[in-house]
Amino acid sequence: MKPVLFILIMMGAVFGQDQLRFGDYFIDQTLRIDYYHTADKETEIFTLDQLYRQGPWAGSTRHLMEPYDLGTYRALLIDIASNRVIFSKGFNSYCEEYRTTAPAREGVMRTFHESVLTPFPKKPVRFVLEVSDRENLRHPVYSRVIDPADYHIISEAPGRNDRVYRLLESGPAHQKVDLLLLGEGYTKNEEEKFAKDARRYCDLIFQWEPYKSQRKRFNVSAIFSPSQESGTDEPRKGSYKNTVLNTSFNALDSERYLLTEDNQTLRDIAGQVPYDALLIMINSARYGGGGIYNAYTTFTADDKRSEFLLIHEMGHSFAGLADEYYTSSVSYEEFFAPGVEPRPVNITALLDPENLKWRHLLSPGIAIPTDWQQDVFDSLSAALAQAGRDKSAGLAEMKTAGASETALKTAEAQYQEKIDQINAEITRFFVEHPLRGKVGAFEGGGYAGSGLYRPTLNSVMHKFMDDEKTFYPVNSEGIIQVINYYSE
Ligand SMILES: [Zn+2]
Repeated sequence: MKPVLFILIMMGAVFGQDQLRFGDYFIDQTLRIDYYHTADKETEIFTLDQLYRQGPWAGSTRHLMEPYDLGTYRALLIDIASNRVIFSKGFNSYCEEYRTTAPAREGVMRTFHESVLTPFPKKPVRFVLEVSDRENLRHPVYSRVIDPADYHIISEAPGRNDRVYRLLESGPAHQKVDLLLLGEGYTKNEEEKFAKDARRYCDLIFQWEPYKSQRKRFNVSAIFSPSQESGTDEPRKGSYKNTVLNTSFNALDSERYLLTEDNQTLRDIAGQVPYDALLIMINSARYGGGGIYNAYTTFTADDKRSEFLLIHEMGHSFAGLADEYYTSSVSYEEFFAPGVEPRPVNITALLDPENLKWRHLLSPGIAIPTDWQQDVFDSLSAALAQAGRDKSAGLAEMKTAGASETALKTAEAQYQEKIDQINAEITRFFVEHPLRGKVGAFEGGGYAGSGLYRPTLNSVMHKFMDDEKTFYPVNSEGIIQVINYYSE
């Protein structure tokens, strides 16, 4: 279809409110739409892979349209007969992050496999993918009619027989958030460790607010799919492991970013049970993970910061929360367009301070924007980054000069002591800060030191705080609206 005509049709499609009756349009099964997403910075192409008819629909039968507007991308189903939008869901993607990196800017096209899950339609629908531009306007970029009677839709039973653990059972899938935890890098002989780790992290999630008080609105399952080898890929170390979900460190060439590009296997394994959100638990002691909105969260099981990491990454993948930090090195370049209000609920460009999107949660009497001694924090952060660089450069130099193991160990300990000392100062800055826990508009967030504001001094989406297992009010509200969407 020609783009102009297509946009006209889209404009005619009617967005209803919540009066849609599930049974009028859908049966209680899942349509999995697999496609390839190919892009560099300038170009973006979508091509269909396969359609699948799978088990029971996990999501709500009441909320067919998402009641919020999150994610750079959005999938729509439009009923052909009535030209009415009958399903919508926003999401982010690995490919989108790739588009912000240097190779993409240099014109290296890459392909990622992605899936959209919808309830299974009764009658022909138009499937539309929309992408948001830098001004936050959504445009259709892919469209195709799907006839549920099409015999090309793959409806075979899942070809796997993995063991499923029911970790928390609160009620029917339509009325609960269905979390699914998948094990990665656990061999056949490590099933006991997998089961123990899965239970431990399931318990840990519900120690954190707002998950703690919303626990009864969740079901949690875990699937054990054994890997040939233990661990995960670590490309910078030249170490590759044969694992079931093909996860790898150094995603987007970032030190700690740990993702999978094997979406096909991921979805095949996950499709054995109904799920709203995916968590991938990786059998490794190295610090790393990632979280992409409405795709998945990854986290390693055995680092001492793994609990915090999981909770942080779930903030991204489950609730579409943005990173509130800006000093750590990331591979993104200008992730949020300057002068445009970002979609995530927890950062703002503060273009209209009177109508700040979390103004109903502001601490009484707080100044907007909120002065938080950013210069002090910035100089500590700069010192920390420098200490890290000194460590890498110093140790590399010693290795080249043929230093002994003992000398290297001593030097490493000295460098680390300096890093720990600065980290302790940063922690003190946050813990002793008079504005700790107050809701205002703190400049710096979303990978930008200026022009974007976060709601609190510190938070789970910012830096590590180990003494309070809670999201502050703005992030909490963002998480609860997602819980409501899935479980009402
Ligand atoms: Zn993050």
